[in-house]
Amino acid sequence: MSIFQLDGRRALVTGASRGIGFESARLLRELGAEVTIAARGQDDLRAAGERIGARWVPADVSRPDDVRALVEDVGDVDILVSNAGGPPPGVPSETSEDAWEAGFQTTFMSTVRLVEGVLAGMRERGWGRIVAITSLTVRRPAINLPVSNAMRAAVTNHLRTLALEVAADGVTCNTVAPGFTATERLKRLHSSPEDADRARNSIPARRFGEPSEVAAAVAFLASSEAAYVTGQEIVVDGGFTI
Ligand code: NAD
Repeated sequence: MSIFQLDGRRALVTGASRGIGFESARLLRELGAEVTIAARGQDDLRAAGERIGARWVPADVSRPDDVRALVEDVGDVDILVSNAGGPPPGVPSETSEDAWEAGFQTTFMSTVRLVEGVLAGMRERGWGRIVAITSLTVRRPAINLPVSNAMRAAVTNHLRTLALEVAADGVTCNTVAPGFTATERLKRLHSSPEDADRARNSIPARRFGEPSEVAAAVAFLASSEAAYVTGQEIVVDGGFTI
């Protein structure tokens, strides 16, 4: 028997048609939670939902109306996993207003709005788990990911601040910061096999992480056992940020 039983808990995982979000949803489901997954597209999302026995609701979390409709549709949420696609790469000094705004909406405001939608119910029931997926770039900024570096830091400190407000209500707020993790996003970020090899060799563990290894940290933070862990960041990066 697993120690992290989530029977009876209702989880919402966004950005969950693939990658880290999908594996997190899969594991929460495996541990007994009722899970709703959200992402932008219909077909991949439906297939993902059917694979793991989760409800699925299409939503683009960068859009306030979509988030409102999603939260209304899902109803009470005990475990929120806020995740979405990461901002595209760029040159720090050449980042456009549009790129900042897109990152602000997709990475930061999505989390703010999702939390707003589920927090009151969590506080009333005296039990809630808020987990945002961020990035190792909070600890060690990557030169080619200026928008990600800034917006993840904002998410991290927003949840640390919120943790102070709601800690006494049984609601915890934490982040999981993945390192290089073998997903579609990672493939897109590496321009060649040599580039991927260089990245792999820069990691003390000498391999990329698996999405399931990030999901394991999410499941811990979502559990009752993690009730006394709040305002924290778990970095899952094979030692990269040591
Ligand atoms: P991914 O691109 O494989 O999957 C992203 C998921 O989010 C997909 O389901 C996609 O459909 C969904 N999505 C994208 N934009 C969305 C939006 N606006 N609204 C709703 N859903 C949306 O990414 P991943 O590798 O699983 O990464 C998940 C998060 O972790 C990303 O924010 C990424 O930047 C971050 N991260 C990933 C790595 C890595 O190495 N994979 C490292 C550090 C941080």
